[in-house]
Amino acid sequence: MTPNKEDYLKTIYKLGGLEKLVSNKQIAEALQISPASVTEMLGKLKREGLIRYEPYKGSSLTEEGMHSAISLVRVHRLWEVFLMRHLGYSWSEAHEDAELLEHITPQRLTNRLDQFLNHPAYCPHGSSIPNPDGQIDLIPMQPLSHLAIGVSSHIRKVTEEKTLLDYLQEKGIVIGGTVRIIEAAAYEGPLTLDMNGERIQISYKAACQIYVEDTKELKYQLNC
Ligand SMILES: [Zn+2]
Repeated sequence: MTPNKEDYLKTIYKLGGLEKLVSNKQIAEALQISPASVTEMLGKLKREGLIRYEPYKGSSLTEEGMHSAISLVRVHRLWEVFLMRHLGYSWSEAHEDAELLEHITPQRLTNRLDQFLNHPAYCPHGSSIPNPDGQIDLIPMQPLSHLAIGVSSHIRKVTEEKTLLDYLQEKGIVIGGTVRIIEAAAYEGPLTLDMNGERIQISYKAACQIYVEDTKELKYQLNC
């Protein structure tokens, strides 16, 4: 499926386009499309007043673009909560179907959904759900791969990508769970974890996509 206008706005938002310029290369990589098609779409978005675009530098969201991006992210994450809580979806299924529903959900339904779910603050993958004004909770986080051996922390968020979500869910990774690295094999080899009292093993690459609480440093992660 080719990404549409809304997918671009969401991508620019997640790459930090509220406060800085996001390059065409970053957008092309995130959406897995050619830089040429990115340039074409950015021209359209600029003409519609949704982004500010500076050739060779990048783009950022205008006020209007920001509102669209935030409502998409908001309804996407609310649907994920609904699908998992009420329809028994898995981590990856919820993300996949929310990706479709976000484009066709009217504002009234978004608000009812939010009410029905009792205003959740996070999606099932740990990403913050912006409130209607776009405000989100920012929690200091670090990748699990950066956690010192023997130190306990809590899992706050995982990157939303289908194969990764299936892998992590099968391994028993849960948001909010207590985690500690017992052993890390040399040369970025697998990590042995204590996950809620159970011993599990995951790849180093996966550990880079799991975020745990970081009380020492402020590193904000916005991607989904
Ligand atoms: Zn999610």
